[in-house]
Amino acid sequence: MGVLDHPIGVIRGVGPATANHLRTLAVHTVRDLVSFLPLRYLDRSRIMPIASVHCGQDCLLCGILGAAAPLFTRGGRRGVSALLADESGSIRCMWFGSASWVGRWSGREVVVSGRTSLRNPPALLHPEIEDLTDERDPYLPVYRLTAGLTQRKMRAVVRAALASLPLAVPSLVDSAWASACSLAALGEAVRCAHFPPSLEQGLRGQDRVRLEALIPLQVLVARRRASFRDRSAPAMAATADELARFLRLLPFPLTRCQADALGEIRGDLANPRPMHRLLQGDVGSGKTVVAAGAAVIALAHGFQVALMAPTEVLADQHARVLTPWIREIGHETVVLSGGTSAGDRGTIHRRMAEGQPLLVIGTHALVQDSVAFGNLGLAIIDEQHRFGLGQRAALAAKGSSPHLLVMTATPIPRTLAMTVYGHLDLSVLSEKPPGRRPIQTKWYDHGRRGHAFDDLRRAVAGGIQAYVVAPLVEGSPSLEASGAVDLYHDLSTGELAGVRVGLVHGRMKAAEKDRVIHAFRAGEIQVLVCTTVVEVGMDAPGAGLLLVDGAERFGLSQLHQLRGRIGRGGQDAFCILLTGEIITIEAEQRIQAMLDTGDGFRLAEIDLTQRGPGALLGPDQHGRVAGVLSADVRLVALARECAQRIVEGGPPPGIDLDGLVRGFEDVPALGAG
Ligand code: ADP
Ligand code: MG
Repeated sequence: MGVLDHPIGVIRGVGPATANHLRTLAVHTVRDLVSFLPLRYLDRSRIMPIASVHCGQDCLLCGILGAAAPLFTRGGRRGVSALLADESGSIRCMWFGSASWVGRWSGREVVVSGRTSLRNPPALLHPEIEDLTDERDPYLPVYRLTAGLTQRKMRAVVRAALASLPLAVPSLVDSAWASACSLAALGEAVRCAHFPPSLEQGLRGQDRVRLEALIPLQVLVARRRASFRDRSAPAMAATADELARFLRLLPFPLTRCQADALGEIRGDLANPRPMHRLLQGDVGSGKTVVAAGAAVIALAHGFQVALMAPTEVLADQHARVLTPWIREIGHETVVLSGGTSAGDRGTIHRRMAEGQPLLVIGTHALVQDSVAFGNLGLAIIDEQHRFGLGQRAALAAKGSSPHLLVMTATPIPRTLAMTVYGHLDLSVLSEKPPGRRPIQTKWYDHGRRGHAFDDLRRAVAGGIQAYVVAPLVEGSPSLEASGAVDLYHDLSTGELAGVRVGLVHGRMKAAEKDRVIHAFRAGEIQVLVCTTVVEVGMDAPGAGLLLVDGAERFGLSQLHQLRGRIGRGGQDAFCILLTGEIITIEAEQRIQAMLDTGDGFRLAEIDLTQRGPGALLGPDQHGRVAGVLSADVRLVALARECAQRIVEGGPPPGIDLDGLVRGFEDVPALGAG
């Protein structure tokens, strides 16, 4: 075991406190530390005069920071503001939150880096401040930090770690292969990645380090794949008749990619090995009928099918759509959710335990201990990213290695799919059913709040049904509910007086929620004021307008999901994004992305670069993946190839491969269980 595998405590300057901070960044060993790559570099030759700064620009400025003054917005947010001045001019810098540390820099000459606002006059939101007076390197790394760590401290610690490395750092890539692929030596690459002589060398160094770090993860993925393949599952080979009957029941022909996906699933189900398939498709691409086709096959072979959805609204909607079709082919659907009465639940539990072929649709109520399937042949998880790893595994564990189909409407960038979901087979619905028109999206800032509601009123008067989404309140469902209630009252007594307005939020009783949603679907309610309870999968084909209040608070994938609620009946559809008084650059970029494209895969790529993979991986994401993830398909493919060579031929000598692989073991394994 070389120095790379030592705990970070061995590095000069890393005491218990720093070690703790580093641990929250998933940095435990020297290897983790030197693989903890800079987010970007400060190029000190690029310091510019403040007067030359434009809007929406990455910039590096040097000047004297003025006094820190408290900042209040009408929206009730607090922060700190300070002016940075050089000989050419000055620029306002703002930070939200208590940001009391800003005061420490007042009156000092500092280097400030960040991105300027898109609106005039340019201001800097949440810039970083540093004292660079005693730095020598031409390019300085900027790291992701955690409270208590500074860039300065990180740089010192990384420098000390680099100094402790042997000249030749052992690599998982054997040297013959490395030179065949013209890969740099790892030791040199690590040094360049942190303190590069040029920007280009820095980025190339990062790629090399990332490749090295990706290999153990790909080894894990390869091993997981192999372990699924070892189990046995019921082969469901005779499918043609029932499936054909089911397809004839549909009011539309399958799209090309729906048919392909169903074909792939048929192939999997016919196999005596459990299916592990991820069905990806943008919102509205029609995943439900594909899942239903799979269910039909399993039911026709006498097996039970579980379909788990993240909300009651969605479970009920699936039941409403699927029950008649399933009945037509001679089978029965039951629903198990929080809203199921105790009496019904008892009967349903008994029938499930007896093993009668049933389609059981439900929420996470399906994975409770009291629920037993006598004969589960296929488990389907809708909107899988809304469930934790434990819940997904628990559903699969209700049968003895059932076939598993997981679905997601959060498009996963290809690199992420290859990295984290590499052990799953992938079907993609890349096109939507015909007749959908692009949704026209508009952005109104705070000053034009009135115009947004004018647009809404006009559209509603013209017979368009609308969702109005209340602002997101972080971490507080009850505040969120009251936000929606307030907005509902304001609108129904103000701008929308005389219009039939409904309200739905997560704090309402299930029956009440149902009633409102039904009324909206039936067109009895014209405007539905709601929280993100409608985000996931809700289908009301009449809805043609979506207004999101406080759009700056929503994540990109959330906005995309919300926008997916409208225009589902093929009509013209409009999306209005209304933002609050002060918004961050990142939020401006998200809104801009929403204006620029309706392509969920494109938006996911943007989300990935903006927020990192955590946002896309769901609740059980892992810091270590965030660190090694690459958006570069070539690099991921190379890592796969290396992993394959290692799985077949063993690791190069002197490397504790299993130790490295263990480091990734809590990376979400869909369906491993
Ligand atoms: P999602 O992929 O978001 O779960 P759904 O399965 O809810 O999408 O389908 C969205 C809508 O598209 C539904 O109203 C569904 O009936 C309709 N739909 C699905 N497949 C087709 C098709 N092949 N042709 C026309 N409409 C379709
Ligand atoms: Mg869906």
